[in-house]
Amino acid sequence: MKIDLTKIGRYLLHVLLPKTCAHCGEDLHYLAVEPLCPACRGSLEPITGLICRKCGSPLESGGEYCFNCRGHKNARLKAALVRSAFSFNPELRSLIHAFKYRGRTDLAEPLGMELGRAYDRHPELKDYNFVIPVPLFADKERERGFNQSELLAGVLAREKRLFLLKGAVERVRNTPSQTGLSKEARLENVKAAFKAVKPELLRGRRVLIVDDVATTLATAGELARALEDAGAAGTAVLTLARER
Ligand SMILES: [Zn+2]
Ligand SMILES: [Zn+2]
Repeated sequence: MKIDLTKIGRYLLHVLLPKTCAHCGEDLHYLAVEPLCPACRGSLEPITGLICRKCGSPLESGGEYCFNCRGHKNARLKAALVRSAFSFNPELRSLIHAFKYRGRTDLAEPLGMELGRAYDRHPELKDYNFVIPVPLFADKERERGFNQSELLAGVLAREKRLFLLKGAVERVRNTPSQTGLSKEARLENVKAAFKAVKPELLRGRRVLIVDDVATTLATAGELARALEDAGAAGTAVLTLARER
């Protein structure tokens, strides 16, 4: 009988430090890669039904545009369109939390693949073949050790053979967290947060902005504005999660 030392090692590690589901705390199989149990994994909600043609939010009752886009509330949204892989439900929140705040950078791979699946579901994104992750403020990135959107964008670019544009744009203001702010306050908060430092990389290009979670679209919208002001020919946004 061949002895699989890796498996034995993982088993021992599991006995010493049992893996538990990042959402419900249930014990996980010792070979589990993702930090969610099968039930929580099954509760993730891919956005596959009818969506607003512009902002991508799910539509309950048909039509082409959501209330906000019809009423021009999203008029400030510079990007031509926004698409997201999943609704931001509690299970996905736990998964993204493990990725961003508990150092599970290995999750960039499965989560980036999910972005790739969402990209395939939306042929209208095909025209945007340059990818830019939403940049973090330099101090924040140093503190965290990585930019989660950049890791996701890297996997997406590799899988879909898109060009990852590095260093074209920077976050020049350390904006406080958007959590708990009203929509107006969020727009004010991210105003002039980004600067295109290498406009020559942007000129005439159609850029896909990648982010982990889209809430009010204030951040992605402000970045789209900076890219287009620097000469990008068009912008679209793809995010892992969409908050309703
Ligand atoms: Zn669970
Ligand atoms: Zn809309």
